[in-house]
Amino acid sequence: MNITELFTHTWRQAPADAVLTSHQLALRAGVVRPLETALYAWPPLGRRVLARLSAAIRRELGALGAQELRLPLSMGPRAAAMTLAAHEITSHKQLPQRVYVLQPLPQPGRPRGGLFTPREAQRLMACTLATDEAARDVLYAEMCAAFRRLTDALEIAPTWAQTAEGDVLLWPHERGALRYAACTRCDYRATAETARFALPPAPQTPTETLRKVATPNCKTIAEVADFLGVTTSQTLKAVFFAHKPTAEAAERLIFAVVRGDLEVSTAKLLRVLGGGQLEPASEDAIRAVGAEPGYASPIGLPEDVQVIADPSVQVGANFVAGANEAGYHLVGVNVPRDFAPGQIADIAEMFDGARCPQCGAPLRVAAGFELGRCSRLGPRPNVTYQDADGVERPIARGRYTLALDALIAAVIEAHHDEWGILWPRALAPFDVHIVAVGGGAVRQAARALHDELNAAGFAVLLDDRNESAGVKFNDADLLGVPLRLTVGKKALAQDAVEFKRRAERERVLVPRAELLEMLRAERVSP
Ligand SMILES: [Zn+2]
Repeated sequence: MNITELFTHTWRQAPADAVLTSHQLALRAGVVRPLETALYAWPPLGRRVLARLSAAIRRELGALGAQELRLPLSMGPRAAAMTLAAHEITSHKQLPQRVYVLQPLPQPGRPRGGLFTPREAQRLMACTLATDEAARDVLYAEMCAAFRRLTDALEIAPTWAQTAEGDVLLWPHERGALRYAACTRCDYRATAETARFALPPAPQTPTETLRKVATPNCKTIAEVADFLGVTTSQTLKAVFFAHKPTAEAAERLIFAVVRGDLEVSTAKLLRVLGGGQLEPASEDAIRAVGAEPGYASPIGLPEDVQVIADPSVQVGANFVAGANEAGYHLVGVNVPRDFAPGQIADIAEMFDGARCPQCGAPLRVAAGFELGRCSRLGPRPNVTYQDADGVERPIARGRYTLALDALIAAVIEAHHDEWGILWPRALAPFDVHIVAVGGGAVRQAARALHDELNAAGFAVLLDDRNESAGVKFNDADLLGVPLRLTVGKKALAQDAVEFKRRAERERVLVPRAELLEMLRAERVSP
């Protein structure tokens, strides 16, 4: 292909709103073009990258025996896949199944991460169906292994973190919306809604009686602890939330209690509540159940208020808690003597320096962009099959996603230098970039080389512009094609071509007769 025929030109500079390196380079090279905020077109150059990534995904999944299908976008692919499975799979003889779709889907979330968070993205959605959980877990392990082989082929090493349902594949970056805890010593990594941590054991102290004490002008945990001369870990923190299980459902008041040195994780609390929406409760709603904002505690509340306490309220004794009366707190609070939570569940927010549940070393809170996810799903009532005895059983499902735009962004984040992109060979839009330096015979020789390599099965880009060598070399660096061949007057006189790998500085003259063999040895084509 001639560079003059490419639909896009390179940009000298990226727009000011492109902050991430991957976003800047993808725009400058013409991999993507912005249409509206966070909505991109993939011109022919970028389309080639997407096509190679799609081909690599199809190869990996095809090797597992997975089959591609197409689903309508208007129904939502998840619902469509389940409806299809419910209709088609009736017998154990049809299981296991592995199917997938590769198509663009609208994306939720804040579009602040360039190609990591576009409003619409090319997605892989795969689904495995099995007779039971053991069979499902075998397929799950296969799919995770396929994802690892894929990222190896893309020459990136993303981070894997545990989620509530399985694993998430993420690209660590401070601007990412996905927060996770990572151990500083072992391999423990988990997302905010599932990260566990260990608390140091509290000193054993004799149980005191419950007393009410005046705490004038002490509204925060720190003020109360300071006033009473205790640490924040000797207090209880109570937070009221308004929970809506669904958009139509009425609000319910939820009372969350954690030890005073911790925070309530809304992500964990939502998981405990089975999803929906959480908002801070209004002061009126708090007073309506007999509690006092700023001085609230679970002690003495009506029984119909749902209290969910973190296990940390059991690590320690003689806590300080609100007295549900302005200006007063209770001391000597003991669980469950003074209040019995309706539910004990892990609802404490991870924090920097918390102890790893596996090895006890400090955890670090980090952020990243999501690249994909592997999930083990529970049974669904209408998705069933008949076993060998004719008994109706639920299908054990797995769900797997990849965000192709985000994977390409991660590849550029991992493979670039100050001049441009360095595409890994599996993803490069072209295998070889030919630069012709000079006109006449040089141009003719470059054209002949282009045609010869094309015929030999290479994807070739020929810079046929009337530009200076400097401009052409700069663009070659920006576009990032793995191999550059320069045809110039001097080399031509020796019947040779200058050969350079994008990732290296070294340039060598290769006799024309040996060139094809050398390129084949580079194994540029997948
Ligand atoms: Zn650890």
